[in-house]
This record gives sequence, C-alpha cells and structure tokens, in this order.
Amino acid sequence: MFEALSGKLNGVFDRLRRRGALSEADVSEALREVRIALLEADVALPVVKDLVNKVRERAVGQEVLRSVSPAQQVVKIVNDCLVEALGGGEGVEHVPGLNLNAAAPVAILMVGLQGSGKTTTSGKIALRLRARDKKKVLLASLDVHRPAAQLQLETLAKQAGVASLPIIQGQGPLEIARRAMQVARGELYDVVILDTAGRLSIDEALMDEVAEVKAATRPHESLLVVDAMTGQDAVNTARIFNERVGLTGIVMTRVDGDARGGAALSMRAVTGAPIKLLGAGEKLDALEDFHPDRIAGRILG
Ligand code: GDP
Repeated sequence: MFEALSGKLNGVFDRLRRRGALSEADVSEALREVRIALLEADVALPVVKDLVNKVRERAVGQEVLRSVSPAQQVVKIVNDCLVEALGGGEGVEHVPGLNLNAAAPVAILMVGLQGSGKTTTSGKIALRLRARDKKKVLLASLDVHRPAAQLQLETLAKQAGVASLPIIQGQGPLEIARRAMQVARGELYDVVILDTAGRLSIDEALMDEVAEVKAATRPHESLLVVDAMTGQDAVNTARIFNERVGLTGIVMTRVDGDARGGAALSMRAVTGAPIKLLGAGEKLDALEDFHPDRIAGRILG
C-alpha cells in the first residue's frame, strides 16, 4: 500500500541513515513528504496540517527513530491516521450507511450542485432500498428550474422499479415536497427521496429553497452529493451546505474516475458529517458502501 509514498520515505530515511543516527528533525523531513503527498491528493491545507501533526505525535511516541524500517512504520501511522480521520478504525470495515430508523414515511433529502450526480444517486438509493432492503420507495423531483429534471427522475424511477410522484406543472419545490409527504403517508410508503434542484454554483436562492424544504419535510437524512473530481471546490460546497442546511451524510460520486479522493477527507473534517456512500459509475447498481481504508489507500496511492 502507498507505494509512491513508501518509495519516497525509503529514499529519505536511506539518505539520512548514511549521515549517521536519525534525529527528530529527520522525522520532520519524512513528514514533509507526507505533507506533499496529501496535498497532491487534493486534501485541503488546514486538514493536511492537522493530519501531519497527528502523525508527528504518534511517530515520536512509537519511536520510529529506533525502528529498523522507519519508512514502513511512518507509512503505517499515516494510514491509521487517514482511516481514523475518515471515520474508520480498528474493527470498522465500513461506515454505516443510511439511517432509516424512524416512523414511516422516512424522508431523505438530496442536495448538491447541478451535475454532481444527485438525480442519478437518488435513483441508485431507491434501487438499493427496494431490492436489498425491501422498502416501498417514492421518488420526487423538486427541480422546477431544469425543464427535463422531473422527467429524468421519472425515467430513473421506472428503471429502479419504484414509484415517482406524478408531475403537476406549475407547482413550486415546497408544494411538491409537501405533496410527496402527503402521498407517502396516504399510500404507506416507507421512504420518500426528495431530489432538490441544483445550481451551477452556490447561491442564496438555492440555499433558501433547500432550507425551506427541509423545514417542511423534516428529513431523517440530508445527504450532500459531491463529485469527487471537483477536489478543493467540494470542500467549500460541503461547508456551505452544512452551515445552511445541516448534513447527516455525504455521497461522493465519480469515484470510478481517477480522482484521488482527498476531498473525502477534507469534507469529513470540515463538516463532521460521515461519507456514507460512493457513486462508482453511471448505472443504477453502481452504489457502494464507504470503506475508509480503501479511500485512505487511494489518497496516498
Ligand atoms: P445532477 O444534476 O446532480 O442531478 O446530476 P445527474 O444525476 O444528472 O448526473 C450528471 C451526470 O453524471 C450524468 O451523466 C450521470 O450519468 C453522471 N454520473 C452520476 N453519478 C456518476 C458516477 O458515480 N460515476 C460516473 N462516471 N458518472 C456519474
């Protein structure tokens, strides 16, 4: 694991050894490599600083200096710190997914910027809840800004084998959300997935709209959908949505691309909200549980 970083650290320690005994300052040189590797993986700077400090504390405590393979030991410490920062740790194989322990109908609010994969992810979650968890699911699109959005969700609902809220032209997002909850109560749905509108960038009107819908529907989960490829921007998006709407979890999409996944670490650190699921492709079955150790491995590759 972490071959690139391991290689660099081996280089650093070999060079230092040739000079004689290792000092604490030498560990600092190794930590510089760790820092660069994290920055290259798109982890936000304040998060990198915290993490490197944690690694330093442990490295000193564990007497890396006297170790026969200091590079390997530093790599292990970095790995452990990353896994913990991502919500994992000893005995935690993956982060628990959605929490639907509430009286039906349970609402899931999907928020995020346009193009993040929100609508696709709504369909993926619907399919999983129906097929795996045997839930009766209703999908509702609140996106009245993009003409095709409601039809797109209707098509996805059909593919997922779940119902979608009938479209009534002229209704606003709040009206649609209330209608969805009413239909769900009347027709005994277990879960209602509310797919809100996105925008190309964050604006006040979007935040107000989402906050209003949240207040009216009291969702049990408020999930931010973020494209892993957006790197540092993902962190700002997560911070603002968390401040204005309050998030219970994050879904990171496009992990099938070549993004390193550093955004996951930053988003988790900035919001405190767990990464609950990953989108790994365009198809509806491409939804994965979040394994902290796998993303840690990918961040430092
Ligand atoms: P929305 O505007 O946030 O609702 O985004 P959409 O759900 O419409 O997705 C935008 C595009 O991203 C579509 O072409 C999707 O097929 C694609 N997409 C969504 N999730 C993933 C993913 O996990 N991996 C890949 N490769 N593409 C995805």
